Formats: sequence, C-alpha cells, structure tokens
Amino acid sequence: YLNNAALMARRRAALPAGLGQAHEIFIERAENAEVWDVEGRRYIDFAGGIAVLNTGHRHPGVSAAVRAQLERYTHTCFQVLAYEPYVELCERLNALAPGAFAKKSFLMTTGAEAVENAIKVARAYTKRSAVIAFGGGFHGRTMMGLALTGKVQPYKAGFGPFPAEVFHARFPNALLGVSIDDAMASIEAIFQHDVEPARVAAIILEPVQGEGGFHVAPLDFVRRLHALCKRHGILLIADEVQTGAGRTGTWLACEHWDGIAPDLITMAKSLAGGFPLSAIIGRAEVMDAPAPGGLGGTYAGNPLACAAALAVIEAFDREQLLERSRALGERLGAGLRAIAAKHAVIGDVRGIGAMVAIELFRDGDPHQPDGALAKAIVTAAAQAGLILLSCGPSGNVIRVLVPLTASDALIDEGLAILARVFDAALA
Ligand code: PMP
Repeated sequence: YLNNAALMARRRAALPAGLGQAHEIFIERAENAEVWDVEGRRYIDFAGGIAVLNTGHRHPGVSAAVRAQLERYTHTCFQVLAYEPYVELCERLNALAPGAFAKKSFLMTTGAEAVENAIKVARAYTKRSAVIAFGGGFHGRTMMGLALTGKVQPYKAGFGPFPAEVFHARFPNALLGVSIDDAMASIEAIFQHDVEPARVAAIILEPVQGEGGFHVAPLDFVRRLHALCKRHGILLIADEVQTGAGRTGTWLACEHWDGIAPDLITMAKSLAGGFPLSAIIGRAEVMDAPAPGGLGGTYAGNPLACAAALAVIEAFDREQLLERSRALGERLGAGLRAIAAKHAVIGDVRGIGAMVAIELFRDGDPHQPDGALAKAIVTAAAQAGLILLSCGPSGNVIRVLVPLTASDALIDEGLAILARVFDAALA
C-alpha cells in the first residue's frame, strides 16, 4: 500500500535533490479544485499546479476534447503534417490579444520555450542582440530563461555562464521604496553603462511578477516603458506565462494596460488546462522575421494540447470565467484582508483579479520579510487540508492560484482553514 513517507523515500533515492517539492504529498486523484493523496486525505487546491489549472483539474470539456483527439491522432509533428486545431488555436489567440494590428502566433510546449522563442523573434526582427529584463523576474529554467530571470538563488547559482547581452533593470516596488522614477532611471543606467539603446532588441516584463512575489507593474510604469520602447525602436514583450488565460480577470493581464499592446506575448500554464502547451503571439510583421525552419519543435503544439486549449477557451466563454475571475478576486481579497486585520504580520494584501497574495513581514517593516513564518503557515495549512504556495525573493509571500471554477463554498472553506492556521501559529 502506498503512503507519502514511503514514496518520498523512493523519490529521494531515485531523483536528484535539485528538483524541489513544495509539499511531501503524493496525489492519487484530483477534481476541479480538490485533490486526494495516496493515503485518502482530501485537500483544497489553492496552488493549481502553479497557475496551470484556471479551469480546474480535469475540466469535463477539456477531458472530453482530449479524449476525442486521442481517438483521431496524437502526433505528426506540425512541421511535417499539419492539423487544423493548431491553426484554429492560433486564430483564436490572435483574436484574443490586444492591439489594433495584424497578429500571428505559434506554439511550443513550455513557458521557458515560449520565452526563448519570443527573444529569437525579437532579435530576428530588430537585428539587435541585447535584452533588458527585471530584477525579481522569472522567465524559466533554460539557459536564456535563466539569463533573463532576475533571481540568483536557487535558479541561477552554479549554472552559468548564461547567454550574453541580457541586462537587468529594477522593477518598481512601492513597499520597498523603488519608485517608477527609480525603475526608469535603472534602464537609463543600463544605456549609460552597458549597451546603447540602438542595440537593444526587447524589454521583457511580467505584467504581474509571479515567482517574484505577485508585484503588479504599475500602469504609469508600463506607459513610460512603452514610450521608451517607441523612442528607441525596442520591442515590448509581455511574459504572460503565469498571468495569462484569465488569472487577472481579463484573458491577458496586459489588457489592463489602458490600450497599450505588447509587440510580443508569451503564454503557457493555464492555456491548455493541465496539458503542456505554450504560445508566442505577436505583431504579424515581427513574427514573420525568422526564416522558414528557424522556429518550431518536434512536440511543439501537440494535438492533444491544442484540443485542450480550444476547450479551455470554450469553457471561458460558456462559464463566463473572466467575470468569475474578478468576482473570485474580490472574495479572496476580502477574505485575506479579514485575516490580515487580525494579524499584523500580514503587511500587504495585493493582486489583480484572482491573482492575489499576502506578504508577511515583521513589525510592519517590508525590509524584514518573514519567510520562515510563511513556510510554517504553508506547511500547517497542508496538514489542515489546504494546499498553498509561497513566492517572493524571501519566500515570504503566500500566493493564491486556485481554479477559477472553484465554488464560493470551497473558497470560503479554504480561507477558513488559512484563518485557523494563522490563529494557531500566532497564538
Ligand atoms: N515565465 C513565467 C512568468 C513563469 O511564471 C514561468 C513558470 N513559473 C515560466 C516563464 C517558465 O515556464 P515553464 O516552467 O513552463 O518553462
């Protein structure tokens, strides 16, 4: 008979230590926003497989679409023999992305690959090499993904050298006193110290830093970045791997940007409701820059994943999941603010739509992050039946990425567990 401890022992013996694990739990089955472990224990899933399950575990529409696709064909390699679901999905993604210009899309498998390919396209179009990313940002575990990622421990340490010509600016953070002026000045400093703007292909940012701690890019910052990009012929890339597919109350988080449209957008995670798929969406003339054969991949745009993604988009329409995302965000925000009102250690509650988080720091001082407490809360919550994830540079941010399809009753049950865990930890 399987139990978590025995499986963890086998895992430790057979798998490398570098593969992290948030919870020492092995799963037996899952449905919508609930999972059951191999010992029969039930959990409410506020992690959603790290932002992959906006439509929940095993959404019936997604499962049916994949089952039907399974009976027809599962792989041809799109560059060898094409299939309609890939094209239809790209048509849908083009139509769903903001910006009054022609768009094209192509598909890959992981978020990191989407980021890699966005950089390839930007370099091919601009014929420039440099890229500016932000401190605290996360863009994947491939070599260029790591080069762009703005956090050394644990992602980059020991894995270099990384591709050259990547520079990091500061991401605004009002709590820590990094103003929009400071962030813009840090880009000017890159132009002064590292690379001339005429050699910069792209600036890449997450509309809300995910792994970095759920920091929302202020609208005024985006406006100024966009103006700077226009002035110097630099492309603006929105990495929507974590924010995309409805998490923030709009299909893409960049729809909150008051009409500013990125030149390129990356998506993955919730795009295919639990199946591996990523997308790069962008201005048609930019996307057409790489020569034939320069883009693609053996598994990229797998038919099962395309079928799943089309079913995800249909679920958003049918179940009005964007409205649900906004309502859920309000419910979660209110619940988290109520817990914060009782516990001064919760120094901030923030987010947009259903992408919300709480940040823990001591004595009301954002410079004293309490990662140890966040870890204790996440562990105690799991023991009490609620799966959570932490994030942020000090691991002191607890984020919520619960399926948008979760019922209000389940959300309230999860919030009640969190409230009890805080009460017990700080009693
Ligand atoms: N970009 C962002 C913003 C992400 O949050 C992630 C994953 N957390 C990635 C890229 C990398 O995606 P993947 O793990 O699918 O390669």
